[in-house]
Amino acid sequence: MAPPRQVAPGVILVDTGYVRPGVAAAWIVKGGAGAAVIETGTARSVPHVLAGLAAHGIAPEAVSHVIVTHVHLDHAAGAGALLARLPAARLVVHPRGARHMIDPSKLLAGAAEVYGGMEAIRELYGDVLPAPADRVIEAPEGTLVELGGRTLRILDTPGHAKHHFVVHDPATRGFFTGDTFGISYREFDDASGPFMYPTTTPVQFDPPALKASVERMLAERPERMYLTHYGMLEGRIPEAAAAMLAAVDGHVAVARGAPAGPGRQAAIRAGLVEQLLDLLARRGWKGTREEALEAYATDLDLNSQGLEVWLAPAPARP
Ligand SMILES: [Zn+2]
Repeated sequence: MAPPRQVAPGVILVDTGYVRPGVAAAWIVKGGAGAAVIETGTARSVPHVLAGLAAHGIAPEAVSHVIVTHVHLDHAAGAGALLARLPAARLVVHPRGARHMIDPSKLLAGAAEVYGGMEAIRELYGDVLPAPADRVIEAPEGTLVELGGRTLRILDTPGHAKHHFVVHDPATRGFFTGDTFGISYREFDDASGPFMYPTTTPVQFDPPALKASVERMLAERPERMYLTHYGMLEGRIPEAAAAMLAAVDGHVAVARGAPAGPGRQAAIRAGLVEQLLDLLARRGWKGTREEALEAYATDLDLNSQGLEVWLAPAPARP
């Protein structure tokens, strides 16, 4: 796993160690006085985040904010455990996500349904601790996070989830995008640029809202996107956005084309596999089918599940 490193002025990339190296990031943003941690990874990621702070000379007491883009567990499961180690930090979270950070039980039950039981959840995410309510800041659209000479701004960006915001960093013309700008694993980069892939995770995928959220970010003419999955994209952001949104359309078309009934999710997944291989082939990607399917196995599972829920939403899911 790569050690934490600065990728832009005052922006440090930390690998949270989720699943395999290069899958899920946390970010440290340094202000004039103090710092923020954006995304926590899982409860097992806390030592990696603390090591990242230490390596860059930031005392735990100097962290004023822990920010999670949304409350999916690969982004936010470590929030309570991290707050316990950062005595001055408050947790900044979307108003729709706050109660799930204060009481993670519903979130864990929902994830157990997707990932196959509570044992699997503990294995993946560690001991998910509640965040103390008096340290939680609900951050609606337009909230400013002051880091002493550096101000981050929250934009409400539904589409991946209704409890999702992105964090604008004008100092580097960047956005911490969570899952709103899709997935782009660095090992699939080539001379034509990053390979952009959507995330259509259960249970609130909303294609028109996602497009509108991407447009909102593009309107700021960003030069950098800090993806949780994974790392920094620099330059040619509109092209990356177009590729990601085209792949969203492709996902939607596959879902709509799958026959309804008990085999629908499997049919969607099979369609997504073909689409992934086709997208990679068009880039001249040299790896094998097995390598591609291994790298995207979890994404293919989650994306097919999310598309099925989008086609036929179940009532009253968290
Ligand atoms: Zn997510």
